[in-house]
Amino acid sequence: MARRKKIYEGKAKTLYEGPEPGTIVQYFKDDATAFNAEKRATIEGKGVLNNMLSEYFMLGLTNIGIPNHFIKRLNMREQLVRACEIVPLEVIVRNYAAGSMAKRLGIEEGMQLPRPVVEYCLKDDKLGDPLVTEEHIAAFGWASQQDMDDILSLALRVNDFLSGVMYGVGIRLVDFKIEIGRVYDGDYQRLIVADEISPDSCRLWDIETGQKLDKDVFRRDLGSLTDAYTEVARRLGVMPKANVSASKPTLIN
Ligand code: UDP
Repeated sequence: MARRKKIYEGKAKTLYEGPEPGTIVQYFKDDATAFNAEKRATIEGKGVLNNMLSEYFMLGLTNIGIPNHFIKRLNMREQLVRACEIVPLEVIVRNYAAGSMAKRLGIEEGMQLPRPVVEYCLKDDKLGDPLVTEEHIAAFGWASQQDMDDILSLALRVNDFLSGVMYGVGIRLVDFKIEIGRVYDGDYQRLIVADEISPDSCRLWDIETGQKLDKDVFRRDLGSLTDAYTEVARRLGVMPKANVSASKPTLIN
């Protein structure tokens, strides 16, 4: 890898300065963390799969006119993205009850919600990303009212897109998290979808069997995370050219 300036190292990705001003290289690591990084592992091939899958989803968003940071994939683990100021919120959209919402409200996991529910968490690892209301967001100035209108609209559009794409390959989009970036075009600022969209940040269940195909496989020790993500990639036709998991040599006649 060429020598370049590291800007930030997160749990699953490292960001480097891009080749042009206003660009960033996102490197997808094989590291997995859960429960606010209390549980950690290195999962061979995860970074490659998330790089390919995030490219696939971001390109899909671009194609239907949902602004996002993706510029192009550079190689198996890296993509070039537009630099932006990340709004310090995790934007969660839920279609079915699961995870922290099921726990907090005492609802059975898997119950379909009467309508998509959007939640906001403050991005702060030390505090464990606490749930916050729009009152907190306005009072502390994390985003303006106009930003919140735009964020809600982006979140629901991404939900419709992702739900449809997943439904087409027999997968239920239970919930997901996105992050939003602020970009400036002269004096004008606008919001775009940033970070990543991958099975690390979504809950994906097979519609027929209910099998989990997302990071809950790691959180709850349900088997091979690489196999689960590979299955999502295979169904979407997004298979990395090189095999990400070790496979036996095949005999060529
Ligand atoms: N999520 C995420 N990063 C986080 C917290 C949540 O990507 O730091 C995703 C998670 O994978 C799920 C959705 O957001 O698809 C809702 O997560 P939830 O609040 O249920 O939290 P969890 O049960 O994952 O702690």
